[in-house]
Amino acid sequence: MVHIVGAGCGAADLITVRGMHLLEEADVVIYAGSLVNPALLDYCKEECRIFNSAEMTLEEVLACIDEACEKGQTVVRLHTGDPGLYGAIQEQMDVLKKKGIPFDITPGVSSFSGAAAAVQREFTLPGISQSLILTRMEGRTPVPERESLKKMAEHGCSMALFLSAGMTEAVQEALLSGAYTEDTPVAVVYKATWPEQRILRCRLGNFAEEVKKAGITKTAQILVGDFLEASPEDSSHADDAKAGETTGNQTASYERSKLYDPGFTTEFRKGTDTE
Ligand code: SAH
Repeated sequence: MVHIVGAGCGAADLITVRGMHLLEEADVVIYAGSLVNPALLDYCKEECRIFNSAEMTLEEVLACIDEACEKGQTVVRLHTGDPGLYGAIQEQMDVLKKKGIPFDITPGVSSFSGAAAAVQREFTLPGISQSLILTRMEGRTPVPERESLKKMAEHGCSMALFLSAGMTEAVQEALLSGAYTEDTPVAVVYKATWPEQRILRCRLGNFAEEVKKAGITKTAQILVGDFLEASPEDSSHADDAKAGETTGNQTASYERSKLYDPGFTTEFRKGTDTE
């Protein structure tokens, strides 16, 4: 049996309880050593055999899984963050399926969630943005033309960029060609939830320059959008231009939620505005 497990994005206690138990029981662990916190391997039993997939090809990973499964052993394939995002798990699962090797998946806390937690912001603010684009700048892995960063930037919604910290100039140019402006807030979160986490806040206009100065080239989430700075609409910023039309304006304000509004009736609570 193979368990594909999301390790979470850094801190060793951010793995799920299920993922931790699977690590405790595993006979073989193959972990993505380039990004998984090695502290997670402390959950493994002493006799567990541990392999670092950063130094292996897909064929070598599969050979290792094959060998363990033939012996009736339990394998954990430990991926960073959530395995379903840029995890290259599909190609593994398709071979396992073909070979008749059973597997399951345990999700994990992705780095986009870890980064939002680090900056203490909500991606989906009423009146600001109700969508989050998870994407990347094209690198050695191609991105379909219809999803180019330039096209994605036309929405101006909240955005989290993976795998792009080494291409900041191209990112800046693509985002500025869309609905974002030089003033749009950006937060770069390096190694979110790791002990060495760093947060860089800047504006899109000087983003490439600031990231270069900070020396961040990898293992970073780039968060973009007014959600990073919008304030409550009844704050001192209330007179500023209407929320939603102010992409790039640091004083944009968001509306309070309907869900917790005293006037709003929900399935679970009667509001004051209704009969
Ligand atoms: N499956 C992972 C993503 C793997 S792709 C997830 O769900 O997070 C690798 C990219 O993820 C890195 O280039 C970086 O952009 C991002 N990343 C992974 N861990 C990170 C962390 N702790 N902090 C910030 N970004 C991280």
